[in-house]
Amino acid sequence: MADAEDDSNEPQGPIPCSPCRGTGKLNSNAGDDAHEVDCAWCEGSGVFIEEHDAQAAQRPAGEATEEKPQPAVD
Ligand SMILES: [Zn+2]
Repeated sequence: MADAEDDSNEPQGPIPCSPCRGTGKLNSNAGDDAHEVDCAWCEGSGVFIEEHDAQAAQRPAGEATEEKPQPAVD
């Protein structure tokens, strides 16, 4: 059997952000105005930011808007 403990073999390089697939952009479908927005998870860099709080970045001060960018779908 192969060695099941393969977790220690992870690459240390930049990890592509999964919500935007490393593009740094997400399609916002809020209302009728579909448009591209900077990915809140990687701040448009396309690189996964460890422990980045995307919710805090999108939380408008004093507003209860619940707009989440959706991962791009083909
Ligand atoms: Zn991203």
